[in-house]
Amino acid sequence: MLYVAGIDLGGTKILTALADTEGRVVQEIKIPTQGGRGFDHVVERMAASVGEVLARQKAGRDELVAVGVGAPGPLDPSTGIVKEAPNLPGWHGVPLAASLAARVGVPVRIDNDANLAALGEHLFGAGRGTRDMVYVTVSTGIGGGLILNGELYRGAGRVAGEIGHLPIADAPACRCGGRGCLEALASGTAIAREARRLAKSGQAPGLLALAGGSAGKITAPLVFEAAERGDPQAKEIVRSAAAYLGRGLAVVVNMLNPEMIVLGGGVMTGGSAMWDVMLRELQELVWEAALDSLQVVPAALGGRSGVMGAVAMALEIAQGHSGTGH
Ligand SMILES: [Zn+2]
Repeated sequence: MLYVAGIDLGGTKILTALADTEGRVVQEIKIPTQGGRGFDHVVERMAASVGEVLARQKAGRDELVAVGVGAPGPLDPSTGIVKEAPNLPGWHGVPLAASLAARVGVPVRIDNDANLAALGEHLFGAGRGTRDMVYVTVSTGIGGGLILNGELYRGAGRVAGEIGHLPIADAPACRCGGRGCLEALASGTAIAREARRLAKSGQAPGLLALAGGSAGKITAPLVFEAAERGDPQAKEIVRSAAAYLGRGLAVVVNMLNPEMIVLGGGVMTGGSAMWDVMLRELQELVWEAALDSLQVVPAALGGRSGVMGAVAMALEIAQGHSGTGH
């Protein structure tokens, strides 16, 4: 029997799946990343997790064909080098693919986690059978991936699909150095930041009370909870974030005319209010012809979109596709 492994490398968790050559997952494990102990240690843990899923399957090392890895970017899929990983200390220009390949003894390919989540949803999730699909994840940040003509579109500099950094407004400043990026307006981080700001200045007494009087303890889930209970400031914060998200998606839709937008991430599961306002704004701003051919759906694989995309990429290697083009 032959197998491929997919790894979703996160700042806190390493999720590893072993799949057969049809893409059926047969084993899956999740272990802490222990990123604080440095690059070599994390690569060692990734290799060990591959060894572990093989052992659980009672499969030999010689039955493993390829490994795909979704990693936090920016990174270069063609060289396998991670340029920077915000949640992994010391990761500057690290040769992730080569280091892991040396330990597991098979070809390893890496790609941006949002790209792989797009690939996962396209092959195994909500986007199955579509030709032009946009994947957007809204959690602490906002990421995206584009499937165009049935393939992952990476762009000339391999940073296509960075929907979180579409400049949508004049402010606030974004961690990328830009300003008014969608991520700075509609991510979980942005929602919590705005709520804290209002609470600190005495303009959101309900939110402050819910956080036990400590504005710094306000989180995005808490804002959603308050909004569900009818708190006026929380409702307005959610409405504003959702409207910006709808506007960002409208830009993407008028530009690419996709048949489907797949939305994942914790913020999108946070409440129906987010969906309702986002859809209304989208419908208002998008061209009718583009709207008629559009479906907006939640991600089907939840937190497993990324690891399934990594499996899909490993399958591409196994089948001898180059996969690094666009
Ligand atoms: Zn930005």
